[in-house]
Formats: sequence, C-alpha cells, structure tokens
Amino acid sequence: MGSCDCMREFCCCLVRVVRWIPVVFVSSVIVWASYAYLFELCFFHLYVEKDAKVRAGLYGIVFIILMLLFVASYARTIFMPVGFPPRKFYFTREWQDEIKASRDESTTQMIINRFVHLQGIPVRNRNYDGGYRYCVKCSCVKPDRAHHCSVCGQCVLKFDHHCPWVNTCVNFYNYKFFILFLGYGFTLCIFGMATNLETVINFFEYTPHKTISSIQLGILFLLSAVFSISLAALFFYHLYLTARNRTTFESFRSPMLENGREDKHFFNLGVRRNYREIFGESPWQWFLPTWTSLGEGCIYPERGQREACPVSWEGNGITFHERSAFGERYSLLRTVDEDDDLLGDDSDVEVFSATELV
Ligand SMILES: [Zn+2]
Ligand SMILES: [Zn+2]
Repeated sequence: MGSCDCMREFCCCLVRVVRWIPVVFVSSVIVWASYAYLFELCFFHLYVEKDAKVRAGLYGIVFIILMLLFVASYARTIFMPVGFPPRKFYFTREWQDEIKASRDESTTQMIINRFVHLQGIPVRNRNYDGGYRYCVKCSCVKPDRAHHCSVCGQCVLKFDHHCPWVNTCVNFYNYKFFILFLGYGFTLCIFGMATNLETVINFFEYTPHKTISSIQLGILFLLSAVFSISLAALFFYHLYLTARNRTTFESFRSPMLENGREDKHFFNLGVRRNYREIFGESPWQWFLPTWTSLGEGCIYPERGQREACPVSWEGNGITFHERSAFGERYSLLRTVDEDDDLLGDDSDVEVFSATELV
C-alpha cells in the first residue's frame, strides 16, 4: 500500500515535470533567438561587418522592446494564478452528504436548487436539461462560463482551454496576457523576418563560405516563419473570439440557459464593449501586460444589459472590479465569502478545498 502511494506520487511528480517541457522549449528558443538577433545580426553582421551602426542600434532597440513585452506577457500568462470558483460555490460536507444520499438526478437538482437559492449564487448558465451545472469532482456549482479542466483537476473560471505551451489553463485571469503573448510573438516574428531578410538573401546568393553566423541567421529566419504562421492563426482567432465575447470552449458548445435555451450570443455586448471586458478602460494599458480586465470571473453582463460604473474590491488577493448592476447580489456573495462559517463550523472549511472532494 505504502509503495503504491509512493509510486503514484512519483508518477504525479514526473507528469508535473514533463508538463514544463514545452515552456522550457519556448524559453530556450527565446534565449537563443535573442542571442542570434542581437549578437549575430545587429552586432556582428550589421555593426561590425557592414558598419551600419544606426540601423544596428535601431533594430536592436525595437527588438528588445518587443521581446520584453513578449516575455512579460508570456510570464504573466504562465504565472497568473488560475481562477477557481469562490468558496461559496462549493458544497459543504452537509450538502455533500445530502447530495450523496439522493436517489436520482431530480432529487439532486432539488437539493442544488436549494443550495443556489440559499447561497444567493448568481448562475444563469444551465445544463441541457435546464438544471444547475455542478461538478461532481470538485463538489461545487459551476459559476457562469466556468468548466472543469481535466488537466488542472479543478473547475476554472471563464475556462478557455488548457494550453500546454504555457502549462496552465487559459482562463479569466490570464486571457489578456495570453492574447498579448500571441500578438507580441507574432509581431516579433514578422519584425525579425523583415529585418533579417536581406541577410538571408545574401546568404543564399553571394556568400561563398557559409559561416556559423550566417547559418544561425538562416535558422532564425526559418523559425520566425514557422512560428509566425501558427501564432497568427491563434492570435487572429482569439481576436475574433474576443470580438464575439466567446471562449474557445463556448465556440464549440454554446452557453445553455433556463428552459434548455441555447444562446451563443448570450455574453456578446458588441465589439467595443467585448474588447473592453478583456483589455479594460484605459487605452494606454491595452498593450501592456498589466491586469485591466473587467469583472471578477463569476458574473458577466449579458447582451442588452446596461452597464454601470465599476467598483473596486479585493478578493482572492487580486483587485477586481464589480459592476454595480450586480452590486446588490454581489454584496451578498462577498459577505458569505468573508464569513466562511455561514454554512457550517470552521473546522469544515479546509474540507471544501476542492482537490480532496470526489
Ligand atoms: Zn470541477
Ligand atoms: Zn487546466
């Protein structure tokens, strides 16, 4: 039994390490590409060989700025904490026992209806049968747009997809950074290709002896071309999804509402407002990897709803905004969040942490 546990722990550890391989690969490409571009192209080829000092300096500065923005967006996508449902969405032990004891789905739904009502949880997305969406693995009611990620083993807020290249879920908290990562990656590739093109043409046409330096620049050009295609496809797809206020998951499965109604435009507020939801209000921050997305991850304005001015509050250690249109309902949720023992005694609180619940 002991060795079995040990083996399982070892396997889990191994899987966790293996999942970082794509990130290590991308990071290595970033480091090598920076060296090849700045040293081999800007310094060695342009500055020393061609004596084009101004061009070398200009290329270098633009490259460094783009690279810094790209790396910052990439790092924030990876390390931004994944958004899990707030504690009030999780069933306490009493509720779990009651659900376990229920004989059929309709009884379970009745219990969950009662739970949602008592907690004042504002959920509008439903199952195909019109019932509230709940996760058996996490023992929680799923907030709107949240889905269970089998890789993370948790329900994730505004779940988009689990991306192996960032080794995390693309979700409510890192979606802006993810789009910036794709955008700056694509821009870097195009910039790298455009400024490296002349050298690569010379390499094939005139250079009689291919040096290591020119071979590296050739590889850099090829890599930029390959990455630019895949980054462009993803980048423009996500710009399209943002314009429609749709996650990748929702583009395959539209949100379901009460009475089994399916509405793929439920969260669509119009292109301008949809973009503002992700990139925030102030234009000068749209292009910076700073947290500017609106909302708190559980409640989303729906089509046709008038938006009121946002109010800041602290939750999960991150400053969020709440729309005062939801203020009344939300202040109730906040009270519950601050007062964890509303549903039971304090000793049960740890039990709610979703990983332990099956
Ligand atoms: Zn779940
Ligand atoms: Zn995930």
